[in-house]
Amino acid sequence: MAQDNYSFACDTAAKFLGKMEGKIALSKAEFELLSTPQRVLAVSLPVKMDDGTVRIFLGYRVQANDARGPFKGGIRYHQSVNLEEVKTLAFLMGFKCAVLDLPLGGGKGGIIVDPKALSKAELERLSRAYFRSIAPVVGERIDIPAPDVNTNGEVMSWMRDEYEKWLGKPAPGVITGKPVSNGGSLGREYSTSMGGAFVLREALKTADMKLEGASVAIQGFGNAGMHAARILHSWGAKVVAVSNSQGGLYDENGLDIPGIIAQYEQKRLDGIEGKRVSNEELLELPVDILVPAALENQITAGNASRVKAKIVLELANGPVDAEGDDILHAKGVFVIPDILANSGGVCVSYFEWLQNLDGEYWTEAEVNKRLEETIVKAYTGVLDATNGRKHSMRQGAYILSIKRILEAERRRGRL
Ligand code: GLU
Repeated sequence: MAQDNYSFACDTAAKFLGKMEGKIALSKAEFELLSTPQRVLAVSLPVKMDDGTVRIFLGYRVQANDARGPFKGGIRYHQSVNLEEVKTLAFLMGFKCAVLDLPLGGGKGGIIVDPKALSKAELERLSRAYFRSIAPVVGERIDIPAPDVNTNGEVMSWMRDEYEKWLGKPAPGVITGKPVSNGGSLGREYSTSMGGAFVLREALKTADMKLEGASVAIQGFGNAGMHAARILHSWGAKVVAVSNSQGGLYDENGLDIPGIIAQYEQKRLDGIEGKRVSNEELLELPVDILVPAALENQITAGNASRVKAKIVLELANGPVDAEGDDILHAKGVFVIPDILANSGGVCVSYFEWLQNLDGEYWTEAEVNKRLEETIVKAYTGVLDATNGRKHSMRQGAYILSIKRILEAERRRGRL
């Protein structure tokens, strides 16, 4: 659907929604409302570097939709961050929260920076400057950020501190993904991977396959990829390949995952002995399950036809682009979309937020039990929405979230 010239709609979201034509009917107003973020904030951040010079960084916070509850979504540090990407990720967050049926909306933030090129003190000054700049539009019941690519509990702690200084009183629920010693939740650290593992277990039942002995290749060895390797290995899967941005390791008989994690120092896999595999090769390995857990647009028209996995579990956000998705679908690959597959992270973020607001903290077992219940229910809801698998799981997830968001919009009288 054509957008008006003055629109600041998210083109990628419009493209995703455009692909739903024939699956769910959307009026022009509904289409525009879903694809246009409610608020877009761009900030410039002067930061004093260790050598005394000042550098100006650019950051964003996009608030996609809050019909179902406060905006929610991570903050990403990466040199390739751009406004269209942040808008897309904010849009996906809203859909992710709706798939899980959480009372939250969608948001996302990012700073254009290669964090590896900064000292820790510079990174702290940048993180504080960013949060100070977005403080007027976030809040415990307004917009609740969290970690994303290249941000972690330490960064969340700096941001919480900066916000509370700005506000003048405690507000632990303004941000999630904090360390447990600073108001975080037990189980949040590995929740994205834990949720992904629960979803995979359900998907294997649907596909009439077994996890025990199934071969798995995982692209990305950050928080999501590493914990996924650890959990799936401990559940009896044969993890044959793992990689990070420098490349990866491959053993068709299964890698020694606990050994690799123990040796994974300074985020390097290249010091560990074993057969090498490139990131591109990893995606095309003859495996049962492929887990892209790094960045977006890894499986495209250029390589999708060579993917051999029967199941693709999207632990990263947007690892399969629209063209790649069509090719995988046509090949009969069972793709578990990001907004379901990696929703364990925001699910436990929601639990963390509830614990912060209540001041009462849960056991790790309770967190994982509630994660399992929530995500298995979401899986069943998505599967039902595929109408006997007439639609793909991605289409099912979109149908479910579109219905839920629009229902909330109608109830509010915005539509
Ligand atoms: N960045 C994560 C995601 O993309 C987590 C967001 C959150 O916990 O709010 O789902």
